[in-house]
Amino acid sequence: GRDITNLNSGEMRRLRREMQIIFQDPYGSLNPRMKVESIVGEGLTIHNIIPRKERRAEVKRLLETVGLREDVLFRYPHEFSGGQRQRIAIARALAVKPKFIVCDEPVSSLDVSVQAQIINLLLTLQEEFKLTYLFISHDLRVVRHISDRVSVMYLGKIVELAESEELYKNPLHPYTQVLLSSVPILDPETKRKIIILPGDVPSPIDPPSGCRFHPRCPIAVERCKNEEPVLRDVGRGHVVACHLV
Ligand code: SF4
Repeated sequence: GRDITNLNSGEMRRLRREMQIIFQDPYGSLNPRMKVESIVGEGLTIHNIIPRKERRAEVKRLLETVGLREDVLFRYPHEFSGGQRQRIAIARALAVKPKFIVCDEPVSSLDVSVQAQIINLLLTLQEEFKLTYLFISHDLRVVRHISDRVSVMYLGKIVELAESEELYKNPLHPYTQVLLSSVPILDPETKRKIIILPGDVPSPIDPPSGCRFHPRCPIAVERCKNEEPVLRDVGRGHVVACHLV
């Protein structure tokens, strides 16, 4: 509810301490010329969180929190596996004791076996530090596992928002229904109709008129071409942008 786009640099710096981010590619997001101690400890120095002489002990504690041993302190990012690098990125995000962390596809560049470890680590840390995550992902099973509320976006706009259980049980927007129909089911006996959309995703630079989904929507009507649907609450905190819902 707070507009942060016109804050000055001092206000923005104070706010940044409360918000951190974990990026998709930990290899790209960790400075290859810095050792782990500096990567994780930099925020502590910038925000004056603890005296410099206590920094190493705090970095060791943070590394332990994310499941890394203190002997990684003097190593460089290229010496680690993808999962270990993402643990370092998580330790860096936690260092300034934020309230809110944006997790931008944090597991999609990792092996499937490592993905589960990192997701479980994020859940444990959320509980321990009372964190709020904004978790961005294309993997709908991961989203269901980790989220309390889910927003579905199409071409840069939110088209549906609901509590996780509600959204997966009762998807209302046609795009959400298509997405959920494409989630693989691990039981070979279970049959399900996969909805395949015609055409390609339009360019977000020049989105279609009216409802952005209308050129591909299986139930579009004339009105959809001209009038953009607004998000409406249809009950139980379930919000949808579609003329026909
Ligand atoms: Fe489909 Fe129209 Fe609803 Fe958009 S507004 S999702 S085009 S039915």
